[in-house]
Amino acid sequence: MSNDEIYDVIIIGGGPAGLTAGIYAKRAALKTVLIERGVFGGQVAITKGVENYPGFIEIGGFELCEKFLDHAKAYDLEILQREVVATEPGVEYHSVRLDDGTVLQAHAVILAAGGTAKKLNTPGELENFGKGVSYCATCDGFFFRGKTVAVVGGGDTALEDALYLAKITEKVYLIHRRDAFRGSRILQQRVFAEPRIELILDTVVTRINADAAGVCGISLQNRQTGAEREVAIEGVFIFVGFAPNNQLVPAGIKINTAGYVITDEKCETSIAGVFAVGDLRQKYANQIVLAAADGCTAALAAAHYVETRKGAAK
Ligand code: NAP
Repeated sequence: MSNDEIYDVIIIGGGPAGLTAGIYAKRAALKTVLIERGVFGGQVAITKGVENYPGFIEIGGFELCEKFLDHAKAYDLEILQREVVATEPGVEYHSVRLDDGTVLQAHAVILAAGGTAKKLNTPGELENFGKGVSYCATCDGFFFRGKTVAVVGGGDTALEDALYLAKITEKVYLIHRRDAFRGSRILQQRVFAEPRIELILDTVVTRINADAAGVCGISLQNRQTGAEREVAIEGVFIFVGFAPNNQLVPAGIKINTAGYVITDEKCETSIAGVFAVGDLRQKYANQIVLAAADGCTAALAAAHYVETRKGAAK
């Protein structure tokens, strides 16, 4: 590989963090490539409505992602639609290996792979995925128009998507393992005011039941009393949190017990020149605006890192 094929920065992941890093890297005149294996926007692209990104009182998740992508493209950001299979830190350059065997090299790598919906790990869950079990209300809610569904979880995603489903379906059971929700106050108030949502608290799902047509019910157990019950539903939407996509985080980089990458305030990991941003990084909250902020921070820090290295090599 000749020197002009070596990038300043490789960004892995095309969500809000990665795309913002792309915008800032290009503005810093860095030779940059962003690699995304699937849909641009990550989790945001499958989010119904975003109401807390400054400048937009309400905007569709997919629409917001399109704006991020258009913004990055306006700076001629090079984009590869491929799967990354490994990130290999090196002394001179860091390497990124693609699924077709190509190896790209760069001074700095920004890991922006985001995260994925956690599984409930309940009998009947994986077997019925796509047959009534879903992890995305915007994607699958339409199939349950006029039907009864359950939402499992007590965070922002569960509350937001229960409200969304209440507009489409006949009834939503919102099942949470505690008696207090983790999600924001404003969403809680809306949930409490929504007549189509029935709360089932202090309760865990013990089984998802199905017949030949797909999911037909859910078995529940109250954590206080131990009482068991069955509820007839045709769909169950599971929103019990989020796990970071840390499979491409090289060995030697510090991660916390939940799998999030630990960085300094520049978003730099324990390996110099390797940065982690967005939902992959340990921080106070996972929000789109914070993912974008991480992308900015990492790209500015990467620019400084690259300039310093190039300066030292002269
Ligand atoms: P989360 O905040 O981690 O909430 C996960 C929920 O699932 C919690 O209520 C948790 O219960 C419950 N849970 C976890 N494991 C469970 C299990 N095995 N069985 C039953 N219940 C289980 O996850 P999230 O709602 O996906 O949100 C992730 C991040 O994105 C958060 O930082 C959130 O604020 C952010 N987000 C923001 C917005 C927004 O601002 N509009 C929208 C969506 C997401 P416990 O409470 O008992 O732990």
